[in-house]
Amino acid sequence: MSRRPPFPGRMRPAAIRAAILALVPVATLLAMGCPRGPGADRAAPVRGAAAVDDARLRSAESEPESWLTYGGTYGEQRYSRLARIDEHNVGTLGLAWHFDMATRRGLEATPIVVDGVLYTTSSWSVVVALDARTGRELWRHDPGVDRAMGGRVCCDVVNRGVAVYRGRVYVGVLDGRLEALDAKTGQLVWSVVTTDPSRPYSITMAPRVVEGRVLIGNGGAEYGVRGYVSAYDAATGRLDWRFYTVPGDPAEPFEHPELEAAARTWDPSGEYWQVGGGGTVWNAIAYDPELRLVYVGTGNGSPWDRRLRSPKGGDNLYVCSILALDPETGRLVWHYQTTPADTWDFTSTQDIVLADLEIEGRLRKTLLHAPKNGFFYVLDRETGVPISAKNFVPVNWADGIDETTWRPRERTDHPYETGVALIHPTNYGAHNWQSMSFHPGTGLVYIPAQETVFPYLRDRAYEYRPGAWNIGFDPKVMTESPAELASGHLLAWDPVAQKEVWRVQYDGAWNGGTLATAGNLVFQGTAHGTFAAHRASDGEKLFETRTGTGIIAAPVTYRIDGEQYVAVMAGWGGAFALSGGDAALEAGTTDNTGRLLVYKLGGRAKLPIVEREERALVALPAADTPETIARGNATYHEWCLVCHGAGAVAGGVLPDLRRSAPEIYAMLPEIVLRGAFEQRGMPRFDRWLDADDVEAIRAYLLSRRAQLAAER
Ligand code: CA
Repeated sequence: MSRRPPFPGRMRPAAIRAAILALVPVATLLAMGCPRGPGADRAAPVRGAAAVDDARLRSAESEPESWLTYGGTYGEQRYSRLARIDEHNVGTLGLAWHFDMATRRGLEATPIVVDGVLYTTSSWSVVVALDARTGRELWRHDPGVDRAMGGRVCCDVVNRGVAVYRGRVYVGVLDGRLEALDAKTGQLVWSVVTTDPSRPYSITMAPRVVEGRVLIGNGGAEYGVRGYVSAYDAATGRLDWRFYTVPGDPAEPFEHPELEAAARTWDPSGEYWQVGGGGTVWNAIAYDPELRLVYVGTGNGSPWDRRLRSPKGGDNLYVCSILALDPETGRLVWHYQTTPADTWDFTSTQDIVLADLEIEGRLRKTLLHAPKNGFFYVLDRETGVPISAKNFVPVNWADGIDETTWRPRERTDHPYETGVALIHPTNYGAHNWQSMSFHPGTGLVYIPAQETVFPYLRDRAYEYRPGAWNIGFDPKVMTESPAELASGHLLAWDPVAQKEVWRVQYDGAWNGGTLATAGNLVFQGTAHGTFAAHRASDGEKLFETRTGTGIIAAPVTYRIDGEQYVAVMAGWGGAFALSGGDAALEAGTTDNTGRLLVYKLGGRAKLPIVEREERALVALPAADTPETIARGNATYHEWCLVCHGAGAVAGGVLPDLRRSAPEIYAMLPEIVLRGAFEQRGMPRFDRWLDADDVEAIRAYLLSRRAQLAAER
């Protein structure tokens, strides 16, 4: 293990004392009856662009003409009361306009729509503001992310959107910045660095604004980081509180008391703090203003293999958990860990939906959650105690959830110690970040569900490599595309009965998030390049249109002058698309132009779709030995698989290296070792690979090219 670099983002005891002192004026304000939280002007009236105050955010469901927060409301149900578009007329839906996002990378953003303006993000954290009626660009903000960042993000250079509050637009930037923009002009108001730049942190999530604070987490647990969520003063950008989700270096004091309890569930002989421990907060946050609780989902352990992280066992709190935090102090009120001692990348960062459900004759304040591990959880959101838990896809890592302890009954008959354990679901998830929705009328949850299998093989030669992929499992076993073993479906799930009500089966996994509306509709885009509406009560398909690229994002709806619009970001990408292989490639039969698509009844705009050209492929001469090719195969799958696909079969986003122009193979040392394409997002690997390795990779790629040419 190498020495761990210093971590400037950590709060020292003096900083904690300063933070406590900083709370004193807040207490004084409380006594005066002013709203709680930082920001002197929270109660002052706000006018102009994005004039969204606390009251407006709290009652977002009664303002269905807007889409004010990432999940539509603080409860993140992604349900709209708009019903002008309904099950009877949705068949006449057509394109109102589209906006070119100037990218061919994945688009994951949920647009925010307020007072006639739509704010959304493209890849590389670029923010645009558009006239929500016409699509005319009002302003654009490019934070100028160094494209070399492409080499330290697990899952594409995506961004899930902005938050708006009191005339400002907040965006989490891929390189760890949090920025506040003037909603009218796009001018930068403040920018703070929320992560240690020397560690492989990244931000892809949408910020949330709660009680005057901007909440933001980060990702990076595949590379090796320590997770946390931070609250910044929305007005000034000053750090207000930070909650670390896993303990740090035992030689240092605990940053907050919850970590003392957490540390007892880790084995220090694993030196987990070197790699980081994980538990990253990279997607899900919900808020209940009445209970005054912020719900945060945490990610996987880092490295994945728990035998490396915590050799003598332990649950490893608070990885793969739901945390209920006090929004004012960031202190933990309760936690529930969905996957104790995670070893499969079973994050609990999938979206958190708050709903009041009648269960056994009682109205319960519940929290609904369908994490990667394949179980659907209904929790009492006041106490964190589960009410029920049931698998929503077939699972083989556990035999169910014990209803006394609410722990999974983990199976012990898999060959984790002796060979390859074929486990489902997987790191891709039974459900990933693609948001589900809840329809209060049907009482159903609409989940972008998938069935996936992953071969977990212990990496016996594992050692920590700072800045590189650090999962502790051997990727060389993944020569089969995960997409060949995956399927996806739109699943309508009854959270009270814990049972499937209907499903729409798709060809492949990695389909878009869902939107439910009072028109008895569920909208969803698909991996195979369509956007569709289904009847919410029975799943019948009522509308479908071609979109020119696979959709992974979730749609939103809004209304201007009586006209209801449905908007969705279309741009194939993300983790599964990069490593997804042939099946994913079929999703991208076009050139993968990323766009915002906006539909209305009777819309007649034309979508220009550029079909992907099938170029003739000639095999290139290669005089390599089978030994070199085999070595190249192993090296490729260790270092290149994550972005360029298993078996060198790309997933329709980044280049398929079997089909490169001949000069690319000649340039390979320049590209891989000297960063020739670094500013196009292709990282350099000279810290880990040498010229011999690159020669072997080239031999492997040319052999794969020859196979492809022979097949045709
Ligand atoms: Ca992960």
